[in-house]
Amino acid sequence: MKSLPITRGTVDFTLPEHVEALREEVRRFAHKEIRPHVMTWDEGRIFPQEVMRQLGEMGMLGIIFPEQYGGAGMGYLEYAVLVEELARVDGSVGLGVAAHNSLCSNHIYAMGSEEQRLRYLKPLASGEVLGTWALTEPGSGSDAGALRTTARQAGDSWVLNGTKNFATHGSVAGIAVVMARTRTGTGTDGISAFILEQGMPGFRAGKQENKLGMRASDTSELILEDVVVPAANLLGAEGVGFKQAMQTLDGGRISIAALALGMAQGAFEACVKYTAIRRTFGRCLNEHQAIQFKLADMQVQIAAARLLVYQAAWLKDQGRPYAKAAAIAKLHASEMACRVADEAVQIHGGYGFIKDYPVEKFYRDVKLCTIGEGTSEIQRMVIARHIIREGCG
Ligand SMILES: Cc1cc2nc3c(=O)[nH]c(=O)nc-3n(C[C@H](O)[C@H](O)[C@H](O)COP(=O)(O)OP(=O)(O)OC[C@H]3O[C@@H](n4cnc5c(N)ncnc54)[C@H](O)[C@@H]3O)c2cc1C
Repeated sequence: MKSLPITRGTVDFTLPEHVEALREEVRRFAHKEIRPHVMTWDEGRIFPQEVMRQLGEMGMLGIIFPEQYGGAGMGYLEYAVLVEELARVDGSVGLGVAAHNSLCSNHIYAMGSEEQRLRYLKPLASGEVLGTWALTEPGSGSDAGALRTTARQAGDSWVLNGTKNFATHGSVAGIAVVMARTRTGTGTDGISAFILEQGMPGFRAGKQENKLGMRASDTSELILEDVVVPAANLLGAEGVGFKQAMQTLDGGRISIAALALGMAQGAFEACVKYTAIRRTFGRCLNEHQAIQFKLADMQVQIAAARLLVYQAAWLKDQGRPYAKAAAIAKLHASEMACRVADEAVQIHGGYGFIKDYPVEKFYRDVKLCTIGEGTSEIQRMVIARHIIREGCG
């Protein structure tokens, strides 16, 4: 048999220098500006407004958007590293940056008109205002197409009524993207997306949730009572809002995967430090083989997740299909992070159960990653749909 010529070297796992430089910059920032306050914010449910302002000044609240819209002009690889490094120190700040970039801002960037981008994306991307994105309702989460908020046309405006819940930044945002039903009886084809501004009469934040984890992240209800929204604020065409929302979530999942990855890394690093100083039976914990195996298993799982996250980001940056890779990365990284955080508490023994050690918080915070932007079950549904459509490749 005639042998085929061998071509080598087309895959490079080294991150570009500027991405590593960004990692260092964010790491330094998180160490100085976030780490000292993490538990105060968590215990007090304090939203870190000043840190978000600083991140805005650094260009991190518009990292994935072109400079002409106030962004930093970077890609999803840089974005994944940013969220990973923030989450390594505090999941809540990582979640805030992820929700702001991926959801409200990216929905406007990807689906908005030039006028909407200049009017709304610019202040979002430059960090002047925060964004919130409201798809979920009390009666519709995973089954988002069952949403009941209505938008009725009235002359040159739409009038919105309904209640949204679990909106990240719901009570601190200046701009919101809200999905509402513009036609009844047409299923997901009757859903449209609108841009709302804080201060529009009838639009207000309701209950702020008191959560298990991510306690410094604002999660609020949004109440819409006869909110008059100009027709110019409809995002794209009438009736395509559900499709837009699903596409927005495809990209968002890369950032939730990076969020999980960062928290797993933070919990792992805490274990490496702790096992080097805690002694039992006359030796350091890290001299017991059972503990060494736990550290090794954590490292393996984190390394595998990191490859999946960066691959999904790279595919998106290359303009190649990425939705399946994003769901795989999100599912794997979030479930991995829960396992790693669980093991991290175990390794710390009783000290893992008290608030003096960071693993207690990682354990609470990581759980959100298997729920937000599509639960693990929904990720499996998305991945299975791709498998059935494309075959097993
Ligand atoms: C901290 C936080 C922040 C959030 N931020 C936002 C935000 O910014 N914007 C926004 O719109 N939403 C947000 N959400 C909402 C989040 O996206 C939903 O909670 C999530 O999609 C799940 O919906 P649900 O809570 O209604 O659960 P349900 O849909 O009621 O699901 C309950 C359980 O049933 C499972 N399940 C449901 N249907 C199926 C099925 N067909 N097959 C198998 N299992 C199924 C689910 O996986 C889950 O385990 C946030 C939630 C939290 C907790």
